Amino acid sequence: MNVIKDRVEVAIIGGGISGVALAYELSKRGVEVAVFEKNFLGSGSTGRCGGGIRQQFSTEENIRLAMESVKIFERMKEELGWDIEYYQGGYLILAHTEEEVKQFEKNVRLQRSLGLDVQWLERDEINDIVPELDVEGIGAIAATYCPTDGHAYPPKAVWAYADKARELGAHIYEFTEVKGIIVENGRASGVITERGETRSRFVVNAAGAWSPIVAEMAGVKLPNKPYRHEIMITEPLSHFLDPMVISFHDNVYFRQTMRGGIIGGWGDPEEKPGFNFASSLKFITTMARLLRKYIPALKPVRVLRQWAGLYDVTPDAKPILGPVKEVEGFLQMNGYSGHGFMVAPMCAVLLAQYITGEPLSIPLEPFSVERFEKEVRGEVSVVG
Ligand SMILES: Cc1cc2nc3c(=O)[nH]c(=O)nc-3n(C[C@H](O)[C@H](O)[C@H](O)COP(=O)(O)OP(=O)(O)OC[C@H]3O[C@@H](n4cnc5c(N)ncnc54)[C@H](O)[C@@H]3O)c2cc1C
Repeated sequence: MNVIKDRVEVAIIGGGISGVALAYELSKRGVEVAVFEKNFLGSGSTGRCGGGIRQQFSTEENIRLAMESVKIFERMKEELGWDIEYYQGGYLILAHTEEEVKQFEKNVRLQRSLGLDVQWLERDEINDIVPELDVEGIGAIAATYCPTDGHAYPPKAVWAYADKARELGAHIYEFTEVKGIIVENGRASGVITERGETRSRFVVNAAGAWSPIVAEMAGVKLPNKPYRHEIMITEPLSHFLDPMVISFHDNVYFRQTMRGGIIGGWGDPEEKPGFNFASSLKFITTMARLLRKYIPALKPVRVLRQWAGLYDVTPDAKPILGPVKEVEGFLQMNGYSGHGFMVAPMCAVLLAQYITGEPLSIPLEPFSVERFEKEVRGEVSVVG
């Protein structure tokens, strides 16, 4: 006997920020949805992520998605009735080489042309934003700063979306793994779970790093690859750091949480793709060294804990959104490549608009998986 709904309009696979944000956007539009999460909500990448929300990207697609998402984050407290610890403390992005300076100048021109308020900082202006930063020691020669960038607490964002979606009628099934996708006459028409089957008009693959495995269930190939990314948090300190500090050169980022801890990650360039969740000594020693180098005053501060999660990486570091040509009604919402928390709110709006036939606020074509059949222009502003 089915212990889950027999039929809904939209079956969503994955209960991270993508799945629950889409459940909310659809429920708000009167569409009956079910979310299937194999573990607990936020247990994938969302609950493990840094919570950074920035708009300073190098491609128009990512900048527009992020700028629209920021508008949603700004009204989230009012709209969802939850304080998700959203704080617009800015992002300080450091340039260490002339090559980076050239790229950042291009980025800033593009960002400003799209209406983003970004400041260019010369070396001697960087300490105006973060006085504690050892600009000389880290070899920074310039930086960009966007005051409306910021951060939030990812688990609370998931709970906020899920609570509101439930209130509006969404069915959210935790500890319910999708084992198969029903495809009939070339159309996705439901999911098979360990707790029964649910028929639907659309099936959405919001399974994060597991999305290629889920896509295979419908006979669809995705190019995304899972990469471990490690992260840590220190003991709480009095508030001193407003922005997220980020360096693509050193592959590092860190910020201070509302509870005072410094949370940050370093991307190991030698990391191989795979479902690896182990915490490593290499990460924590490298990260501790980098933090001390960036802010020498952090030397005596103790690490509270470290953990790991997965980036769901596409060849151009842009998400995959919308339909696939092989199976009608099978929609993708994945491939965020390490910046999905920040753009998922707008991606959810776009997919909800697509499903309900509303005009799209941003075209979906640039995010179609079919783009990989041609040459693609990649996002370069990423911690890899
Ligand atoms: C260390 C780290 C730091 C990060 N920092 C940031 C940051 O600062 N800012 C930012 O924007 N992004 C950041 N990210 C990336 C961000 O976490 C992700 O892009 C985002 O959370 C993706 O959300 P999602 O809902 O698509 O995927 P997930 O949160 O991974 O959700 C997918 C869910 O699908 C479920 N699932 C998988 N298979 C099945 C199945 N067969 N049946 C049912 N359920 C299934 C999984 O259990 C999982 O919960 C970071 C990631 C990591 C790992």
